[in-house]
Amino acid sequence: MRVNRYVYLVGDGGRGLSHDLDCCVYLVDCGSSYLMIDSGVGLDSGLIVNNIRADGVPLDKVRHLVLTHSHSDHACGARYFQKELQLEVIAPIKEAEIISQGSDEELGLDVARGAIYPPDFAYKHCKPDRVVSDGEEIKIGDKVATFIQVPGHSPGIVCVFFRNEKILFSSDVVFHGGTIGLGNWKGCDLSEYRSNIGKLSGLGVEQLFPGHFLFVLRNGQKHIDTAVNNLKGPWIPPAWLHRHPHL
Ligand SMILES: [Zn+2]
Repeated sequence: MRVNRYVYLVGDGGRGLSHDLDCCVYLVDCGSSYLMIDSGVGLDSGLIVNNIRADGVPLDKVRHLVLTHSHSDHACGARYFQKELQLEVIAPIKEAEIISQGSDEELGLDVARGAIYPPDFAYKHCKPDRVVSDGEEIKIGDKVATFIQVPGHSPGIVCVFFRNEKILFSSDVVFHGGTIGLGNWKGCDLSEYRSNIGKLSGLGVEQLFPGHFLFVLRNGQKHIDTAVNNLKGPWIPPAWLHRHPHL
């Protein structure tokens, strides 16, 4: 589904757009090619491909896939897209190694399997083609993507910022309303959240596309600033799981 001039939503379990366990999967129109952001859970990637086709995007123009972090709902579809569509898989430093060979504990599956994922769920490891570091910018077609690493939800999770367009893909770092992705798995760390969330201050974000739930088309920075302010206070800030206990 086309959301605005540059962004398509091509997967999302919450909206029934693709497999129930898929995160939000976005496509960014970069002129000569398209960049996919996150890959979904990999249990029915064909539904995402169907959505891309239905949106009129030529499959051979989708060339790059950014994985924001290693969690299964974001990264387990990568192997399919790397193999079947020959996408270049890009992952942040600290997450890339977990994506290629992390243990169940490093992937959070020791607590998530049987609760979020089926009891027999197995992670699909994938070796990223390119690793990016904090603050790195890459030019894709007529766009420039900046990777902002905001550890907390996981050790190396990135937000992807298109400065010229004022668009931020915030993954599981911050959601609509300023809730954060704080949970009870290895690699999730409240003090890391507290130390790093400030990197998202002052970006002037208009359109905010998180990894789950609602996206925001105007004044997205307001939602980010709520999270920044909550993390300055003495109490554990509201997290998405409090609002969505079934997920
Ligand atoms: Zn996650």
